[in-house]
Amino acid sequence: MDFLCIDFINSQWYKTHKFFKDPLKDKNLMENFCKKWNVSIVDVSDSKLIDKLLELRNFLNHIINDLCTKNTIYEKDIDKINRYLTCFSFYTVLKKEDKSYYLSTVPDKFNSNQLIFEIISSFIEIITDYDIERIKLCKNPECKWIFYDESRSHTRKWCDNTCATLMKVRRFRKKQTIKNSKNL
Ligand SMILES: [Zn+2]
Repeated sequence: MDFLCIDFINSQWYKTHKFFKDPLKDKNLMENFCKKWNVSIVDVSDSKLIDKLLELRNFLNHIINDLCTKNTIYEKDIDKINRYLTCFSFYTVLKKEDKSYYLSTVPDKFNSNQLIFEIISSFIEIITDYDIERIKLCKNPECKWIFYDESRSHTRKWCDNTCATLMKVRRFRKKQTIKNSKNL
């Protein structure tokens, strides 16, 4: 399952892969990201906006870390999310999809950027409509990729097979080292 907010926070992967540029500052990567999530394309030369996005990414990353390690979102952070929300006003409209009808919330005016609005909305959606215990950090300490665990048993530990294999190899080597040192 793909969530805009998780995709956004994971854009900080370059921190563990130093030879890449921050995707939020890369014109092509940013364009692809905006297209993927169907939002107006962000101009990476707008340094004020990029700074806001960087701050938002740090903030959401910190909340996800609290959720994964302390199982909570602190009151001060909820207040901060609400402060982000005050920048937007909404109205509701009736919509039709095939043969069903539903109410949808539409932003009225943007006092802030559309992407920021969509990221915050996606974050609120995941913590209100989904199982927050399934939001996880990859157990590889050098990775910390965020993912939504869709496994039936809720026991997924790694973002992908590369990290799983890497950590298994490391565990195996550690065991071998202990074995070898015992044999000395
Ligand atoms: Zn990983």
